[in-house]
Amino acid sequence: MLIGQDITVIGAGIGGLTAALALAMRGARVEVLEQAAEVTEVGAGIQVSPNGMAVLDALGVADALIARSVRGQKVTLRDGLTGKAVVEMDLTGLKAPQPWLFVHRADLVDVLHAACIGVGVEIRLNTGVETLLPVDGGVQLEMASGETLTRPLVIAADGVRSKARAVVAGEEEPAFTGQTAWRVLVPQPEAVAPEVQVFLGPGRHMVAYPLRDGRTMNVVAVKERDHWVGEGWTQQDYPETLQAAFSDFAPEAQALLADIEEVYLWGLFKRPVAQVWSLGRLALLGDAAHATLPFLAQGACMAIEDAWVLADALANAASPETGLAAYETRRIDRCRRIVAGADTNARAYHLGTPLRSGALAALKLGGKLAPKAALNRFDWLHGHDVTKD
Ligand SMILES: Cc1cc2nc3c(=O)[nH]c(=O)nc-3n(C[C@H](O)[C@H](O)[C@H](O)COP(=O)(O)OP(=O)(O)OC[C@H]3O[C@@H](n4cnc5c(N)ncnc54)[C@H](O)[C@@H]3O)c2cc1C
Repeated sequence: MLIGQDITVIGAGIGGLTAALALAMRGARVEVLEQAAEVTEVGAGIQVSPNGMAVLDALGVADALIARSVRGQKVTLRDGLTGKAVVEMDLTGLKAPQPWLFVHRADLVDVLHAACIGVGVEIRLNTGVETLLPVDGGVQLEMASGETLTRPLVIAADGVRSKARAVVAGEEEPAFTGQTAWRVLVPQPEAVAPEVQVFLGPGRHMVAYPLRDGRTMNVVAVKERDHWVGEGWTQQDYPETLQAAFSDFAPEAQALLADIEEVYLWGLFKRPVAQVWSLGRLALLGDAAHATLPFLAQGACMAIEDAWVLADALANAASPETGLAAYETRRIDRCRRIVAGADTNARAYHLGTPLRSGALAALKLGGKLAPKAALNRFDWLHGHDVTKD
């Protein structure tokens, strides 16, 4: 157990809040330092697959999330240019007992935040960390306010632009992946089917699925480009620019973009999975350790899994240092495999001619011969429950 142990988490994103909850439920006294003025997420959807839900269930927040989310039933990959279905994957036939949810990000953060408050986690807003220095028996933090704090154990869940990452792993800045993503929420006149539609095109793809009561469609459209100068998740773009980028897509894909108003655009950044995840009593978690492309929809699920394993490893270790080392050992290979899988999907999703038509035909044939194979090959991912390790 971690009873009475003081643990500081940097970042109140999905990773930081899940870690704070998991640690507090094991008896730790947890504070979260968040640079933003409020605990919230951008207006967009996120898929939480059964491997992530297994942890949320063990932490007692699955039901609250299910009540606000759509239970996914199917994923259909389509040829974006013709609209024709290439492969259908039945999400209800998964071996894992947990559901596959389509969630509004703000709802996930809200549920985690409420649970953290319920177990006594202290969340300090407007509290940015500027520099981190591992010292004997803890970590010294220089705050944006000019204050200096010394804390016995610090978990940095500070995202892809993590300041802790360079201290722990001594590695390079996040690099632009050559992919940009538009995101938009589109109101629907009535509830739409609980399915993910993925439209694949050369150098582009579009993903759409419903949120909440099914009457809001979450659309993310990804396009390759050479360079990116913006930062963050709040850069707006013109609806016409997004519509033009997909103007050769099938009518059903274009229809999703017909009445859009508020469009956001952001560049996708990545770093290699950190070679080392902790230094002394400072550890990395979530995107800070292993930011990934979104082509397997696993970045947040990995952060959620990290949180459980971290709390379990610390609770069963003789010292924080050995606990952090055990956490890394239990996580690193799985995270490397997931990040590599997302990179592979990125290449496959955006194939251009001449490879594209052959690849789509092969996918279609595979789907006909072995309809469950497309999803079953990811059993190692979606069917794994880290709470049972
Ligand atoms: C287009 C797209 C679609 C995606 N879809 C999915 C999906 O369907 N399923 C899925 O599982 N994942 C998905 N992801 C990935 C997922 O969004 C991320 O992996 C996840 O949000 C990472 O969470 P995190 O807590 O590690 O980092 P973040 O969400 O980045 O949180 C970091 C927090 O730390 C705070 N912070 C940063 N620096 C400091 C500092 N110095 N001091 C104090 N606070 C600080 C930030 O303000 C923030 O609150 C997607 C990502 C993208 C880009």
